[in-house]
Amino acid sequence: MGNSQEHIVMIPFLAQGHIIPFMELAKKIQETTDFTITLVNTPLNIQKLKSAQSSSCKIHFASLPFNPLDHNLPPNTETTEALPLTHVIALFHASTSLQLPFQELISELTSKHGKPPLCIISDVFMGWTNQVAKLLHITNVSFSTCGAYGSAGYISVWQNLPHRSLESDDQEFVMPGFPDRCKITRAHLHKYVRNADGNDDWSKFFQPQISLSLGSFGWLCNTVEEIEPLGLKVLENYTKLPIWCIGPLLPPRMLDSSSSNEIFGKRAGKEPGLSPETCLQWLDSYAENSVLYISFGSQNTISPAQMMELATGVEESGKPFIWTIRPPIGFNLNEKFRDEWLPHKFEERMSASKRGLLVHKWAPQLDILCHKSTGAFLTHCGWNSTLESLSQGVPLIGWPLAAEQVYNSKMIEEEMGVGVELTRGLESCIRKNDVKRVIETVMENEGIRKKANEISKMIKKGARPINGKKGSSLRAMDDFVSTLLSISRV
Ligand code: UDP
Repeated sequence: MGNSQEHIVMIPFLAQGHIIPFMELAKKIQETTDFTITLVNTPLNIQKLKSAQSSSCKIHFASLPFNPLDHNLPPNTETTEALPLTHVIALFHASTSLQLPFQELISELTSKHGKPPLCIISDVFMGWTNQVAKLLHITNVSFSTCGAYGSAGYISVWQNLPHRSLESDDQEFVMPGFPDRCKITRAHLHKYVRNADGNDDWSKFFQPQISLSLGSFGWLCNTVEEIEPLGLKVLENYTKLPIWCIGPLLPPRMLDSSSSNEIFGKRAGKEPGLSPETCLQWLDSYAENSVLYISFGSQNTISPAQMMELATGVEESGKPFIWTIRPPIGFNLNEKFRDEWLPHKFEERMSASKRGLLVHKWAPQLDILCHKSTGAFLTHCGWNSTLESLSQGVPLIGWPLAAEQVYNSKMIEEEMGVGVELTRGLESCIRKNDVKRVIETVMENEGIRKKANEISKMIKKGARPINGKKGSSLRAMDDFVSTLLSISRV
């Protein structure tokens, strides 16, 4: 399928959690077509991406001029991961300064290829690309790196700010556009959404960018339509656009039932804290579904008091565990881990009894989740972590911290029934007994495990051809490509 003269341009938001799925999407489009694909970003991000690709990678890269110092950002900060939350909003606003250079780049690429790009695929947070696309008469498709429920939750809350008029943080409200059963409180929301009133810096970024993205030709979503029927319905109602669910954007081997012993290895730009081999050997000594894996994603951590209580609860649960651990909030994430952040002699005790493996900073998550001994994942509910876990039928314990994670956590528990939320945010006061109770509830409940296995089957079925019949995500990708080609012929 495809025409070698066609080219498309893709532009993710300035965050690893967006750049990685964009790169995976680019590879997927390349498997289906022979389009020339140019992935665009800021100089440092492009430099990192380029160096992580193998020599066989056919994706083209283009940098737009960007100087963090012009936006009161520290030098060399071009992704959200490199910044404290107080500075992140400055990076969001700075991303809109890419509009003019992006427009110039599109004109250059148009001259080079002798015709405009077939399509611009832009991050939902880069809604301004729609203005460029309109000006240059190019189709713009938005790509949401979140799931459907999470994307719909984001639109619902940012566009309506329904919590503004509530009397207290604990008063429940229905998320606009969702059925009555989908209730949250202001306390559920991340502090920058909780305090938004439409005139703050966060609203001034999210509201216009989401509105502009709603003016796209269509949306691509990193999910499988069968696993999120409600989220997809609400998202369709909000966007009134075609939505192609082309996920999950995971390494193909995670979707293959025939297990192999090959390891996934390290991910671009991250040094593993422990080798995959060490983690896998450790897991080999435990029974099927008996180990708890704990991680808060690529950039988050919890408060010192929460870390203490979590460690005590995990120890008292008696379950073996692997914990990707970082310095708690208030400390430099790159500083050496201090024993005082954990209960007295915790690491020493866990190591001597082989009860727990603490992995500092970065763990080989895909290898851990694919191992048969891993029985549950205590997660911040980042969408990649959620999909990775569910693709392997591993039930979840939710502790959402930021972004759309709170909606993911709700969906995991209330719609899918594949997990339980332990707590949320950095300010919550968790108790060791709650930690112990939720771990037992999730790890010893065969109903939750069965549902997680059903979701795993749906994900694999959607993403693969079975007996010559393509799953829904493969059909969505074919439809997306043929729709683009058909509009280009009009
Ligand atoms: N990840 C990993 N090792 C770690 C922490 C994270 O490999 O120690 C990977 C994980 O597999 C996932 C990504 O980092 O692909 C985290 O993405 P997610 O959307 O879950 O959360 P974010 O980091 O964007 O908050």
